[in-house]
Amino acid sequence: MYIDPHVHMVSRTTDDYRRMALAGCVAITEPAFWAGYDRSSVQGFFDYFRLLTETEPRRAAQYGIRHHTWLCINPKEAEDPGLAREVLAIIPDFLEKPNVLGIGEIGLNKNSRNELVILDEHISLAAKHRQLILVHTPHLEDKLKGTKLILDALRNQKIDPGRVLIDHVEEHTVRLVLDRGFWAGMTLYPDTKCTPARAADIIECHGTERLWLNSAGDWGHSDPLMVPKAQAELRRRRHAEELVRTVTFENPKRFLGQSPRFNAEPPAPTAPDLVR
Ligand SMILES: [Zn+2]
Repeated sequence: MYIDPHVHMVSRTTDDYRRMALAGCVAITEPAFWAGYDRSSVQGFFDYFRLLTETEPRRAAQYGIRHHTWLCINPKEAEDPGLAREVLAIIPDFLEKPNVLGIGEIGLNKNSRNELVILDEHISLAAKHRQLILVHTPHLEDKLKGTKLILDALRNQKIDPGRVLIDHVEEHTVRLVLDRGFWAGMTLYPDTKCTPARAADIIECHGTERLWLNSAGDWGHSDPLMVPKAQAELRRRRHAEELVRTVTFENPKRFLGQSPRFNAEPPAPTAPDLVR
């Protein structure tokens, strides 16, 4: 059994839901992010938020998976502050939807000035509406610098670090994130970012406190089964079942459970071809 707390099902097929369910997935959370193309207007985001709050929960439920989501305009498309502010203005209405856990994945992509301004405005929005925050850290060579800028922005607005998950941590950023009291996510990719073996090394060096694993499956070369593959790697290294459960189920449940909307009880699957 596992939770994948970061996977972009908008870019995956229904067959992926089926395979995830068979591998033991009971709940997922889908942060709003780049959908593989730049949207031309706020209307594109309105439709995307409807997909995240209406279509995907229904599609996931067919396979007995509980779907939750996070809302924002991602840093990749936040270079245009005018568009970004129009999107920020429609988010509060969607925060009322029953599967929304908070604001995310916000953060930085190229660490630009505009990205930083819009990041600050997202943090303010989350604070105003008492929302959890899920943060994307840049994948380029600027990950360490970007992570520091984000942690400082959160501290400047006096956000409780226990209510923020900093995602895509790697060997050189995980300690910084945990030492400041934040939660940390390791994104497992087939070859780039963090592999299951590197994630297992990080757990062996830093323990399991406030750490989780996710696949971040998206429109690019990625794999929505990376969490069960990491479970297999941890078992291969003879780690206790309790440790495997802590990083792939209990920790996500603890962090996400800070929102009353989170529910790890899967709905009964309705898909006829699913055998549990
Ligand atoms: Zn993502």
